[in-house]
Amino acid sequence: MQRTLSIVKPDGVKKNIIGEIIKRYEANGLRVAALKMIHQTGDEARGFYIVHKERPFYDSLTDFMSEGPVVLMVLEGDDAIDKVRKIMGATNPEDADKGTIRSDFADNIERNIVHGSDSPESASYEIAYYFSHIEIH
Ligand code: UDP
Ligand code: MG
Repeated sequence: MQRTLSIVKPDGVKKNIIGEIIKRYEANGLRVAALKMIHQTGDEARGFYIVHKERPFYDSLTDFMSEGPVVLMVLEGDDAIDKVRKIMGATNPEDADKGTIRSDFADNIERNIVHGSDSPESASYEIAYYFSHIEIH
C-alpha cells in the first residue's frame, strides 16, 4: 500500500472536471484518503515546488499554481505513485498517451491539469506539506 499527493491544478478546477479526474483515479482502484480545496499564495506554491527553484519555469509555474483554487488529495492504493502518473500522462500533453488526463484536457506543458508525486520521497514531503495526520483517513 502506497500514498501519493494528487492536485487538480487551477486550470482543472476552472474547466469543471474535478469529478471527472477523481472518477478516473477511483475507477483504477485508488482510494481517496484525504481531500480539500485551497487557494494558495505564491509563497506557498513556491515552497511546494522548491525542488524546481532553479528551473526557468519556476516563477511562471508558481504564479499559475496560485492564480485560483486547487483540489488537494491523498490517494492510496497498490503502486499508487506510478499508477497516478500513468493515469495523468506525460508532463507535455503533446507527448501524453491517448486517454490520459493530460492528453484529454491539458492546454500546454505548464497548464497540464494535474500533479502527482514522482517518488516515495517526494510523496512524503508533498503530503506533509498540505495535510496534517488528522486529515488523512
Ligand atoms: N512545467 C513547465 N514547463 C516545463 C516543465 C514543467 O511549465 O518545461 C510545469 C508543469 O506544470 C509541470 C510542473 O512544472 O507539471 C512540474 O514539472 P515536472 O517536471 O515535475 O512535471 P510533472 O512531474 O508534473 O509531470
Ligand atoms: Mg514532478
